[in-house]
Amino acid sequence: MNVSTLARQLKTTTQELLEKLPELGFDVGARAIKIDDALAPKISEAWKKSQKKQAMQKRLSKVEERGKDEPTEQKKDSENNKELAIGESIVVKDMAEMMKFPVAKLMGELMKNGIMVSLNERVDFDTATIIAEDLGFKVIKSDNEIKEEASKRERLEKLLNTRNAQDTKPPVVVVMGHVDHGKTKLLDAIRQTNVVDQEAGGITQHIGAYQTETRDRLITFLDTPGHEAFKAMRSRGGQIADVAVLVVAADDGLQPQTLESISVIQKEKLPFVVAINKIDKEEANIDKVKQELSEINLIPEDWGGKVICQPISAKFNKNIPELLDTILLIADLENIKADAQGSAVGTIIESHIDKSAGPVATVLVQAGTLKIGDMFMVGDVSGKIKIMQDWTGKNLTAATPATPVKILGLKELPSVGEILEVITDKKEFKGRLKISNGKRKISSSSNSTQNSDDEESGINTLNLIIKSDVLGSAEAIEESLSKIKVPETKIRVLKKGLGQITEDDIANAEATKAIVIGFHIKENKNITSLANEKHVTVLYFDIIYKLLEEVEKILTHIKAKKVIHKFLGTMQVLAIFKSSKNSMILGGKITKGKISKNAKIKVIKNGEVETMGELISLQSAKENVNEVVEGNEAGIEYKGEPIIEVGDTLEFFLESYE
Ligand code: GDP
Repeated sequence: MNVSTLARQLKTTTQELLEKLPELGFDVGARAIKIDDALAPKISEAWKKSQKKQAMQKRLSKVEERGKDEPTEQKKDSENNKELAIGESIVVKDMAEMMKFPVAKLMGELMKNGIMVSLNERVDFDTATIIAEDLGFKVIKSDNEIKEEASKRERLEKLLNTRNAQDTKPPVVVVMGHVDHGKTKLLDAIRQTNVVDQEAGGITQHIGAYQTETRDRLITFLDTPGHEAFKAMRSRGGQIADVAVLVVAADDGLQPQTLESISVIQKEKLPFVVAINKIDKEEANIDKVKQELSEINLIPEDWGGKVICQPISAKFNKNIPELLDTILLIADLENIKADAQGSAVGTIIESHIDKSAGPVATVLVQAGTLKIGDMFMVGDVSGKIKIMQDWTGKNLTAATPATPVKILGLKELPSVGEILEVITDKKEFKGRLKISNGKRKISSSSNSTQNSDDEESGINTLNLIIKSDVLGSAEAIEESLSKIKVPETKIRVLKKGLGQITEDDIANAEATKAIVIGFHIKENKNITSLANEKHVTVLYFDIIYKLLEEVEKILTHIKAKKVIHKFLGTMQVLAIFKSSKNSMILGGKITKGKISKNAKIKVIKNGEVETMGELISLQSAKENVNEVVEGNEAGIEYKGEPIIEVGDTLEFFLESYE
């Protein structure tokens, strides 16, 4: 076989292949043109192995560097490692743009990793990191995210460190590993085999964590969807979990996300056990996994090292009790304890809006005992524990450390990763509430000032619809109206026409907040009552100067009127479903506050308000709703200039006059 053919097969150049062959133990000569056909497969295998190892080490060293501030290292790396600053999540299209990478190719890379997304959809930080690093980028968290996480970490540390950790508690376990290696299957297997309170026959629910009982002892498993658990682990791993289970498929070995997980585990100094899964499979090779672990300095116990490996089959429930025993053993060695006395502190591990119950969250209690009736704060969200349930749906009155509980009684939806603090002192609670309300007021008032600045430079407009007996008089009226000058106001004639005032005119006036003027036409009782019903003002005149006098009066009045915009919330536009002449149907995520029916909308592009429109209808999870709060996605029908694009920010507000 030609060396060049083999090089092509191995996706390298002939020169590079020839240079590297001696390192791999093949001495074919630096200028060889042909290679023995029997040797080619061996070279091929050795080459792939060495590439994999190299990539693995490179990736791991990169992963360990993340977050560290080592300018010299970065400089060294910067030639082939461009940095990418990403927040909690990023739109695929934007990510491709930042990477200067074709979006279709990026979607292909995502797909290869089992992530099916459209270019307008978002991927979270962890997914973006894995993909970007595969493509030679170094990913850093954007500044704000780092600061926010650091402050949460510090606060939780402070809250927990002041407690006297003297009570034993179940270990909290996080299951990590590469996609498809069997994390979900393992969590399911454990959930089904050792169900606590099986006699109660409760229907188990996914609340982000569950507990299992083995040897009369409890173990808490974090059961959040892979990435969410990973996110929490990345930011404050050591504070949330006590033990990690690293799942590695015996037929696939160490893969990128395995290495990611190892780096988190090492950074957090989390004790861990490697669950070598899928040992039932024919291709399973436990020793190969151990070999790969050893290559990155994680030497298995039975090979003379310290890493505990437990071969299992999640699918066939093999060695699950042994794995649980190992977890307990690690917990005992680590002497895991917490303070079970006093007011509770915990972390939100799941939250969502329930159609009937409103904001619902799962909190993992970390210190103290959480009780019914407890007043608490989660970030800026306040609440009082009304109902508390465990993962089997059983109502609880108290929850001690390491217990995950679903709570009802939140005023708004808290974010995952937020710290819940019970505040027993009423005065302190009121104080905290005041501070958080104050924060909101500041943000909404700063928004409303900005709003009024945006309002056509502070000019108030009077919209008019004019109907008259003859077209000539309507035109004469319009001309006379244009001569009225009241500072900071203007008149806009939206429609002028002949004949009676119609229902259509009233509907138009309602939509545009216009006043309807009838000149030389008779009042129609039906129209008057319809107008009253719709809060539309209709004025009839027979003499033009009276009409002008009246309009001037109205203008003077609206000049004095102060428009108030009450900030409700913001939405990031993620998808456009339909666009027509003056309306759009689109979807997005509420990034701040809430959005509610009857709101008005500012369309913000690059920090500037481009246009304003109205919210016609609001949907969440395909249901018509009155409001949607932060963290959730919503579909809206927008009325106004159809210029909204994916990535724009919509600001929702209520308009009133003083
Ligand atoms: P996750 O992405 O890590 O959560 O992986 P899953 O738990 O979804 O498992 C991925 C696939 O591997 C599924 O098709 C599982 O049925 C399969 N799987 C998981 N554990 C085992 C196992 O022990 N043996 C075999 N043969 N298949 C398994």
